[in-house]
Amino acid sequence: MRALYWNGVNDLRVGTVKDPEIVNPHDAILRVSLSTTCGSDLHFIDGYIPTMQAGDVIGHEFMGVIEEVGPAVKRVAKGDRVVVPSFIVCGQCWYCQQSLYSLCDNTHPKPELQEPMLGGYPTAGIYGYTHAFGGYAGAHAQYVRVPFADNDCFKVPDGVEDETALFLSDAAPTGYMGADFCNIRPGDTVAVWGCGGVGLMAQQSARLMGAERVIAIDRFPERLQMAREHAGAETIDYTQVDSVLDALKEMTGGRGPDACIDAVGMEAHGTGPQYAYDRVKQALRLETDRGQALREAIMACRKGGTLSVLGVYGLIDKFPMGAIMNKGMTVRSAQQHGQAYMDRLLAHAQRGELNPAYLATHRFSLEDGPRGYDMFKHKKDGCVRAVFAP
Ligand SMILES: [Zn+2]
Ligand SMILES: [Zn+2]
Repeated sequence: MRALYWNGVNDLRVGTVKDPEIVNPHDAILRVSLSTTCGSDLHFIDGYIPTMQAGDVIGHEFMGVIEEVGPAVKRVAKGDRVVVPSFIVCGQCWYCQQSLYSLCDNTHPKPELQEPMLGGYPTAGIYGYTHAFGGYAGAHAQYVRVPFADNDCFKVPDGVEDETALFLSDAAPTGYMGADFCNIRPGDTVAVWGCGGVGLMAQQSARLMGAERVIAIDRFPERLQMAREHAGAETIDYTQVDSVLDALKEMTGGRGPDACIDAVGMEAHGTGPQYAYDRVKQALRLETDRGQALREAIMACRKGGTLSVLGVYGLIDKFPMGAIMNKGMTVRSAQQHGQAYMDRLLAHAQRGELNPAYLATHRFSLEDGPRGYDMFKHKKDGCVRAVFAP
């Protein structure tokens, strides 16, 4: 089959690779209809997250049609149109029983690779996302193996288009979970750093959960426009204000947002001396992550408010723990527990309350994968997400 694979740092290629096969009785093979880029892919493409191997097929956001199932698969069958959350979960372990799906204990075949960073408690495995996250083949391909198909394949109801379902694999559940973490009450103001796919989905989800005001922070006019249009957000272009903190204070009568969501992560851009400091330290590999958005979210949040962290991080320094402690903040964070939200998200999509298809700003054939990633990475032509059809 044809697939998009990592060949080395900043070197993606399309080539012919071995077809996936049923390995365990609970596996399914999915014929991929659509897959899409994710900001978190950029971290291993450019070498910030190691443990990639040449030839690894990438891609963890996808949907398609089931081609074949193993003998133990009961809930889905050949021909079903399904969406698959990015994290692979067993559905049986203690974590899965608590609906903490991205922490599943049974789907990471190489947990020792995460030990230095996570203290020996591995995350679940994920498709196409380094050997440190399980080494599973990704979905920018004609076919992909889906382990634990009964837990991980969700049938897409009639009336929900492929392009909508596609984003229910990651951007939508991640954003939705981030808003859910905020325990939004009527009248709340939620500020969201980042207007990429996850940020926009967090903004829309905050609205669905009853936030009175959503304030979106980014620097790209076309993304801020999407936030206004699709999430009814007020917006801050951080390159146009002296201080995001002051702008938020002014917009909230001096109290600050009730909840702050970081949908940016480790490669945050920013302005000012703190950003320059982070850039230098990161370049010297003394600090892996630039944490401008995260620090700002902590400082901007009202007393007793909630910080919800969706951005991906490794190590970060100058972390303002004193602000979290003294302001009595609640911090919630996770990789997406998509399986916990999928029924709700599919219902929202079917009712037209959540339609993430607008994130698909650019479409490519799989053969054009490297060009798609290049446009996505450099946000060329207003690219929010590049979508591939094999
Ligand atoms: Zn993703
Ligand atoms: Zn599990």
